[in-house]
Amino acid sequence: MSENVQVGGMQEVFIQLKGKTLKDVERSIASVESIGGRVTHVFPPGIMVASVPSVKVKLLRRRAGVISVETGTIAKGGLKDLGHELDLAIDAWNNHIGAERRTRAIESPLLDKSWDTNKFLPPDPPAEVMAELRRRDAELAPAQAKGPAGAPNMNIPVLVGRVVVGIVFVDSTIAQYKITDAEKSKIISETTEGLNMLSSFEPNANIQWVYDFKRPKINLQSGSFPAANQNGWEDTWRNAAVAAMGYSADINGMNSYINSIKVANNAQWAYALFVTKYPKVWFAYYWGNHVVMDFAVDGWGIDNFNLVVAHETGHVFGCGDEYAASGCTCTSLHGRYQVKNGNCENCAPVSIPCLMKSNSQAVCDYTRGQLGWNELAIKSRGATTFKGTWTFDLDSGVQGPASGADLWWEQVNTVTRYLVPQSGAMLANLGAVNFDALSRQTLMTKAYTATPVNGSNNASNKLTPGTVIAIKTNAGRYAKMRIDTYGYNLGITWVTYK
Ligand SMILES: [Zn+2]
Repeated sequence: MSENVQVGGMQEVFIQLKGKTLKDVERSIASVESIGGRVTHVFPPGIMVASVPSVKVKLLRRRAGVISVETGTIAKGGLKDLGHELDLAIDAWNNHIGAERRTRAIESPLLDKSWDTNKFLPPDPPAEVMAELRRRDAELAPAQAKGPAGAPNMNIPVLVGRVVVGIVFVDSTIAQYKITDAEKSKIISETTEGLNMLSSFEPNANIQWVYDFKRPKINLQSGSFPAANQNGWEDTWRNAAVAAMGYSADINGMNSYINSIKVANNAQWAYALFVTKYPKVWFAYYWGNHVVMDFAVDGWGIDNFNLVVAHETGHVFGCGDEYAASGCTCTSLHGRYQVKNGNCENCAPVSIPCLMKSNSQAVCDYTRGQLGWNELAIKSRGATTFKGTWTFDLDSGVQGPASGADLWWEQVNTVTRYLVPQSGAMLANLGAVNFDALSRQTLMTKAYTATPVNGSNNASNKLTPGTVIAIKTNAGRYAKMRIDTYGYNLGITWVTYK
C-alpha cells in the first residue's frame, strides 16, 4: 500500500465495504455524500471508488460499513477477502492511479487524432452496415407518436445518475476465441478509465457507474460464422452467450439481462458492453442498447480502448458522430433534447476536439446538450413575452419584480429601445448561436459588460430573432436568453443555471 498525497481539493479514493447487499452500498454512498464526496464507480457489493475532499479521507476511514480507504496503489493480497471481483477492481484502480498508464496516455501519438484519420478505421461501421443496424434498432424501438421536430424524445436516455454497465466477456472453449484473465483485466481497466473521463466532464450529472461482470463460455467453432452471413455473426454468438447466462437465446434474452441489472441496482439506465474475439462485422459499434467491441480495436490499439468505449457510450445516450467521414451534418437532431450536431467537421465554422469527433479527452457543447447535460442544475427557465417598459428577473423568472430585476426592456420612444442590465447584472451578446447547445461552462467564459444592447426599431437593432444574450445575473448566476420574436414586446426563451 502507498499513500497518494494530495493537499486540498477533491481526492479519488478506493473504498472497501463490509456490505453484502444493495442497501449496504446505498448506505455507504450516503456516507460519502454526507462528507461532501461523490461515488463514481461501484463494483457491488464490496467496492466503491469515490471523489472526496482530501481533508475528509481520514474521517471516511472511521465510518460504519467501511473496511478500508486507499489513496495510492494497492498491493495484491493487501486487502482481506480477495474475491475475483475485488481483484479486477484493484487492477483497474492501480492502473488508473499509477503513473505508467497516465504517462502513456498523455504521450500517445494517437491522442486527439480524428476518428477518420488516414489509415485508421473509425469506431463506427461503414454506411451499409450502419443502415442494417439502424433498421434493427427501428424494429426494437417502441412505437411512438412523433412529436414536432425538436421536441424532447423521451425514449432516448440521458447520461445522468446511476448507470449500470453489463460487461459481458463472450469467452469460448475454442482456443482462438479464449479470453485470458490478463486481457479481461485490461479491458476492465480501460473501460472504467474511459467512463471515468466521460462522467468527470459533468459533476452536476452525478454519474455513478455500476458494473456487472459476466463471462459466458460458449463452444461455437469458426464454421458457425460463414462469410456470406456477416450480418448474422453477432446474433450467433450473442444468442449463445445470453443462453449460457440463463436467458432466452434471442434479443429478448439480452434485453431481459439488461433490465435485470438495471432493476437490481435501482439505476436510471443500463446497457451492455459485449467484448469478444468471435467474428464481428466491425471492431466497435453500437445498436439496440448494447455496444460490441473487439480486443484489437483496429489500429487504435488496446491502449485506446478507453476512448472508444467513451465514444460508443456517447451513442448509447443519443450522441451523433462529428467526424467528416461519418457523413454528419450540422442540422441533424440528437439525444433526448434533440440538439443539433453543430460540431460536425463537415459544416462547423470551428470544430473543436470532442470524443464524438476524435480520440480526445474533451466534450463539446453540442455533445453535452445531446447527453442532456445542459438541462441540469437549472434555477429557472421558460418562454414568455417580455413586455415593453417592463423588467425581468432571470433568477426567479418573474417579470416586473419589486427587486432583483436583471433586465429592463427600456422604450425611450417609439424607435429607440435598449435592453438594459440592472442591479449589477451584466450582458454579452453572442449573436445567432445554438441556444440548446450553449452550456453553463461556455457561459462562464464570456466577457460580460454593463453596456445596454441596442434594440432600436431600425437598422441598428441587435436583438433580431435568433439572437442569444448571455447574462451574469445580479445574484451571480449564469443565464442565456434567446430572442424569438422582436417588437415593442419581445418573445423570449431563457434558462438560468444554479
Ligand atoms: Zn460513432
